[in-house]
This record gives sequence, C-alpha cells and structure tokens, in this order.
Amino acid sequence: MKVTLKKKLSFGFLAAVLGSLIIAGFISNVMINKLFSTYLKNENNSKIDKAVTMVSELYDENNKLSDSAKQQLQRYSQMENMCIEILDSDGGQIYTSGIPNHNGMKNMGAMMGHGMHSLMTKNNGDYTEEKHDLIKGSKKAGTIVCGYFSSSLMTNGAVTFIMTLNKSFVISAIIALIFGLLLSIMISNQLSKPLVEITHTANEMRNGNLQLRSDVNSSTKEIQDLSLSINYLAETLNHQEIYRKRMTSDMAHEIRTPLTVLKTHVEALIDGIWEPTTEIFESFYEEIERLNKLVDNLRDLSKLEESKLNLIKCKFNLSDEINKIILNFKPLFDKSNFNLMCEIDDNINVIMDKDKLNQIMQNIIFNAYKYLNTNGTVLVSLKSKHENAIIKVSDTGAGISEEDLPHIFERFYRSDSSRDTHTGGSGLGLTITKTLVEAHSGSISVNSKLGHGSEFTIVMPVVVANKNN
Ligand code: ADP
Repeated sequence: MKVTLKKKLSFGFLAAVLGSLIIAGFISNVMINKLFSTYLKNENNSKIDKAVTMVSELYDENNKLSDSAKQQLQRYSQMENMCIEILDSDGGQIYTSGIPNHNGMKNMGAMMGHGMHSLMTKNNGDYTEEKHDLIKGSKKAGTIVCGYFSSSLMTNGAVTFIMTLNKSFVISAIIALIFGLLLSIMISNQLSKPLVEITHTANEMRNGNLQLRSDVNSSTKEIQDLSLSINYLAETLNHQEIYRKRMTSDMAHEIRTPLTVLKTHVEALIDGIWEPTTEIFESFYEEIERLNKLVDNLRDLSKLEESKLNLIKCKFNLSDEINKIILNFKPLFDKSNFNLMCEIDDNINVIMDKDKLNQIMQNIIFNAYKYLNTNGTVLVSLKSKHENAIIKVSDTGAGISEEDLPHIFERFYRSDSSRDTHTGGSGLGLTITKTLVEAHSGSISVNSKLGHGSEFTIVMPVVVANKNN
C-alpha cells in the first residue's frame, strides 16, 4: 500500500514525539521514585532518632516512666504513626504505645504485647522494627524498640506530591502530543506541498507540455535543487524537441532539392524535351553524389552524437601531415586559378586520429575554396604555442555576415548567400568538424568579415618533447 509523504511524515513525527515522551517519562519516574524513597527513609530515620532522644530524656531510672512522659510518648507515636516500646535490661516490657491509627487497630499492640504484628502486616505493608539502646548515665538501662509499617512512610504530603507530579506528567505529555501533532502537520505540509507541485509539473511535461516550469521556492535545499533540475530537464527536452523538428524539416529540405532536380530532368527526358546527353547524365551524377554526401554526413553526425566515435589515435608529425593535405588540394586550386599558400612550422607532433585530422582539414580548406572569389587566396598556417598546435586557415573569400557567424557550427546551418550560390553544401560540415576537434580535446573558432574573407583557427594539444608516447 502506498502512503502519501504527508501522512508518512506526520505519523513519523508523532511516533518520535510519543517515543520521546515514553522514554523521558520512564527515566524521570524511576529517578524521582528512587530519590523520593531515599528522602522518605531519611525522614523516618530522623523521626526514630527523635523518639529515641525523647525516651532517653523522659526515662527516669528510679521512677521508670512518669504518666506525663507516657502521654507525651503516646502523642508522639500517634503523630508519627510509630510504635514506641521500652524494654528493661531483662527484656521485660516497661512501656508500649501500641500501633496507632492503622485500620482501627489502635492500641492493639498494647493488648498483644511485643511480636504482635504478623496479623497486621497484610494491610499496611511490611512491619519493621528498629532497636536502640536506652542509655542512662553512660550505662545501658534497656532497649527502645521503634516499629512502623512501610505504608506509614507515605505521609499525606508525600502522596499529594506524587499525585501532583504524575498529573503534571500527564498534562505535559498531552500538551507535547498536541504540539507535536501541529508541528508534524506543519512540517509535513511544508515538505510535501512543493513536491506535489513539482510532480504536477513533471506530469505535465510527460503529457507534452514542455513550456511549463516549476516555480517552487523552497527553503529546503534538496527540494529547491529538484525544482531547478526539473526546469533544466524541461528546458533540455524543449530544446531537443525544437532541434528534432528543425532537423526533420532541414533534412526533408536538403533531400527534396536534389530529388526535384533529378525528377524534372527525368521528366524532360521522358517528354522528349531533352536529348539524353553526357552532360545531362553528369548532372544526374552530381545530384546523386550530393545525396550520397548528405547521407554520409548524416551517418557521421549520428555516430558522433551517439558517442560511438572510435578514435584510432597515434603520435605523428602534424607538420608533415598538413603539408601532404595541402599538396593534395593544389591541383583543385590551380584548376580554378586560386592560390593555396602555407606557412608550416616543422616537427610539431600530436596524438590524433590521422583520418579525422584529414576530415577536419578537408572540410575547412574545401569550405575556404567554395567561397573564394576570382584570384582568391587561401593561407594555411601551423605554429606551436604554449604546448598547443595552432592551425589557421584564412581565405579572401565571401566572408560570413555578423548574423550568420554565431550559427555556422550548428547542424544544417547555411548562410542565405551560400544557399543562393550552388556550393553543394548541406550545412553539416562545420558541425562534424567541431565535434571531431573537440573529441581530440581541441577547440575551433572563426573570425570573419563579410566581403573580406574568413579565418578558422584550430587549437590542438601537442606532444611535448620529453612526454614520450
Ligand atoms: P556547407 O556544407 O554548407 O558548407 P558547413 O557546415 O561547412 O556547411 O558551413 C556552414 C556555413 O558556414 C556555410 O553554409 C557557409 O555559409 C558558412 N561558411 C563556412 N565556411 C566558410 C568560408 N570559408 N567562407 C564563407 N562562409 C563560410
């Protein structure tokens, strides 16, 4: 059975209060009883001491005990609920007060004599006798026997005290319980209310409402963190949803263009408008190639996003590798009358996946080539700075507008001008390049001015000479 947090917390608090009350009540009861019985015993001892002193003073060796002395002792015995008995040195009874005020047994002791008490103990608790020497002129003249029932220790005052104490225990327990109940309801409300609100937000999100945010403001750190996390989750999901929609429409758009071109060309051939010439088949091939490249790029991207990127890293000379890449691009640039120049520092070593480096450099250099104007120049430079290799690819091409610049690394992002001119791009090249660079713990940035050209900078950690690999 599932119990709500509010109920669980309330019952928990109540159980804690009740438990504490029982433990505190038990311990204080035991302690007070112990102290109280010690106090009562001390009181009784002082009564007995007083009785002994009184008898010693009143007892006259010749006259034994005067009548007034007997009356005085009788009064004292009555007052203190105590039996006072005086025995001579042979054990003969000189005087006994009897046991006063116990269930009508007054003076029964006088009738029954010493050792009469067994019958009476039943109702009045244990009967105890204490014997003290009766000293007269530093000689033992007899024995004073003081007897009392254990119940007589409990004076009216003592009973009232114990009852008041118990009463105050019960009252304070009830007050503590009510207070605990109110406090537990208050605290459990305070804790459960924001959680209920956050759950409501999460349920709304589950039903597709990704615009809703939790506005819970709690002084409990964990609840505040949970609220922030839920909002962050909503933000991320919303972002992903927008991205998914944009990606689908971008993909549809990118695929539709070559397909439309192919369709219209094939229709023209079927209708006999066009003759099937080599040029026409070449243009078919170009569009199919474009589709192929798009599919390849999409596959690369999905691999990168799923972190399935398997980097086969090795240590190699970056300077030599970049020189080779530039050499491979030379014929393409020459063919279009573009200049491809380089400034490469020697012997810069890195630990990278060589194929991925090729992919990175080809993307950047080919982009520079695509947006070059007549007689344009591309300069590739490599320098080492602060344990980093700095690769720069600058061109004198079309440049990128200020509005486009922050977005060019986003998926499918292409500037309007590049959409207009037939560059054959899909807007995925720089996204893949950036992911590859970052997978090697490097970074990529761009500087560009529309109409003047662009400069892409890649920073890669180098292998320091004494760090052998
Ligand atoms: P594409 O395949 O369209 O070139 P990229 O991701 O490589 O896609 O580039 C994204 C956009 O960045 C391009 O459409 C283009 O507008 C801009 N861009 C990239 N490199 C350059 C450059 N060297 N000169 C001018 N614009 C560039």
